[in-house]
Amino acid sequence: MNDEVRNVIIIGSGAAGLTAAIYNARADLEPLVFEGEQPGGQLTITTDVENYPGFPDGIMGPDMMDAFRKQAQKFGAETHFKHVTKVDFSERPFKVWVGDELYKSHAVIVATGATAKTLKLENEDELMGYGVSACATCDGFFFKDQEVIVVGGGDSAMEEGTYLTKFAKKVYIAHRRDELRASKIMADRAKKNEKIEFLWNTEVVGLHGHRDNGGLKSVTLLDNEKDETSEMEIDGLFYAIGHKPNTEIFEGMLDMDEKGYLITKPDNSYTNIEGVFACGDVQDSVYRQAVTAAGSGCKAAIDAERWLAEQE
Ligand code: NAP
Repeated sequence: MNDEVRNVIIIGSGAAGLTAAIYNARADLEPLVFEGEQPGGQLTITTDVENYPGFPDGIMGPDMMDAFRKQAQKFGAETHFKHVTKVDFSERPFKVWVGDELYKSHAVIVATGATAKTLKLENEDELMGYGVSACATCDGFFFKDQEVIVVGGGDSAMEEGTYLTKFAKKVYIAHRRDELRASKIMADRAKKNEKIEFLWNTEVVGLHGHRDNGGLKSVTLLDNEKDETSEMEIDGLFYAIGHKPNTEIFEGMLDMDEKGYLITKPDNSYTNIEGVFACGDVQDSVYRQAVTAAGSGCKAAIDAERWLAEQE
């Protein structure tokens, strides 16, 4: 057991967590960052980031996150490729476990982000990255002149479907209902695109193919109105069925909305527990951008710094 009590532990290392680390490190708080299962967060599974201000020629997502990490380390942040498995915020100092290693801290910043949802179909793990993807911007490029299917009926499905028409010769959008959830403007754009065909009342219920033999080859579709299944040859499948916030370990401790996103006070990063702050996608289901995550990481770091100063 480690008896040292840190000033700040930051859980998560995407744009929000690492920005918080830069700010807290520059304030001499020597933050300890647990990078989690996907160091660098969702930006490490994207390619070109073209909308982050200051990079007129774009920057690769993984390169951007390496630069964030270096910047945090330069000012004294300690970063570990470790995944937090349990927390106890019921008394101070707060307790954070990585397996059976216990760490204590006066303040905690939660920046655990969100993960793309998938259907958890039988072959999915084997085919992920081999025809099956949850990120059109990362993998669309590999489907030049091929046929792909996008699953979902929200804004993400419209955006990803439209984006994929830059590469693919045909894009199917399979939606489980006959009415889209997407906003009218995004839906209209997709509907007008000649390369896009909508498959209504359609669920993907099977994935076929082998990782070592060309990846995804076909999918089984269920027409849930007629209750009929059919096989469709396809080169790629993209999930766009929403994201799940990574908040399981905070259940029962931090206030969450009905989808599991952490609730922060309006206009700041305070959670329901004094001394625990949240930033980035874990508390934002709407904007979900690198720049908004970074901005909220900055807010959380400043909130934590001021709160710590008040405690002394
Ligand atoms: P979403 O709005 O929650 O939509 C998810 C879609 O996936 C829904 O159509 C849903 O079907 C479908 N779905 C969910 N679980 C499914 C399952 N198990 N099987 C089959 N289909 C399933 O998620 P999102 O599209 O990722 O958007 C999230 C938020 O980001 C929204 O607020 C959206 O407006 C925003 N966003 C904005 C933009 C933009 O403005 N540029 C782009 C992307 C996202 P049902 O409709 O039947 O529930």
